[in-house]
Amino acid sequence: MGNWSGASVTDRLDGERRNADAVAALWRGGWLLVIDDNGRFPVAGVSSADPWGTANDVVLGVRPAAAESAPSAQLLLSRVDGTYEPERHWLLGRDGDRVVFAERSADPVDGFSLREAGPLLSEAEAEYAAMASALAAWHASEPYCPACGTATAVVAAGTVRHCPSCRQDRFPRTDPAIIVAITDPEDRLLLARQGVWATGRHSVLAGFVEAGESLEQAVHREVFEESGIRLSQVEYFGSQPWPFPRSIMLGFRARAATRQITVDGEEIVSARWFTREALRAEVAAGTLILPGEASIAFRLVRDWLARG
Ligand SMILES: [Zn+2]
Repeated sequence: MGNWSGASVTDRLDGERRNADAVAALWRGGWLLVIDDNGRFPVAGVSSADPWGTANDVVLGVRPAAAESAPSAQLLLSRVDGTYEPERHWLLGRDGDRVVFAERSADPVDGFSLREAGPLLSEAEAEYAAMASALAAWHASEPYCPACGTATAVVAAGTVRHCPSCRQDRFPRTDPAIIVAITDPEDRLLLARQGVWATGRHSVLAGFVEAGESLEQAVHREVFEESGIRLSQVEYFGSQPWPFPRSIMLGFRARAATRQITVDGEEIVSARWFTREALRAEVAAGTLILPGEASIAFRLVRDWLARG
């Protein structure tokens, strides 16, 4: 699983990716990760297409968290074979002696998404999978210049698109979203349910940062809109890429100044304060389903459990 809280373990080779000779040399010795426009790629060692429920085992201590155990899945990479095509071959980076490119597949890949496979991959492979997922979504959705509508060309070995008309480089967009673990004076955690979720599924509150807004303001606003709660203290927790299709999740911990919950009834249909004992009991009973291990939501819940 990606660590996300320290330095990257892969080298994105930003100093080499605009040098055609350097990219050609990397290509000759490289490995390929095939990925489709929906961000699915082949993985060895994922036994189920639905590893979401594994979070429950972790919380209950039945199984150690993936981050603390040996990686159990690997990307299915193939040796580079054939001609480098800038439009569909994107340099992801290097770890040790291994250089990895993504190869866009127009056909659906029989594989897994970052959400599913991420928790089981090594740190380096989770980083490659996150970058490939973000690039695949971007290249598939924005082939034209947003300023003039001209078809753009892939440059910088996959991380930039160039508009020949504007003569400007176009970069992938990342949409910031905040996610926040709120506790009350008894150190209970607020978990909420969205109406569109499967029965029993709960998570911490989250929402997109709006135009002209700071992260802290977004935290206060989203929490009040979705739960009616006012916050007294907000502190940064950490972040992680969430390329579904192009977010970065910015995690916070917050203290509630008020306890009364008033849900909006539309996006959020219910919300409750949980003690650690109640949370574990409901997970054990199967009446509460926590977010998947790949998510920062899961990291926030695990962090709160560990501090109890
Ligand atoms: Zn243009």
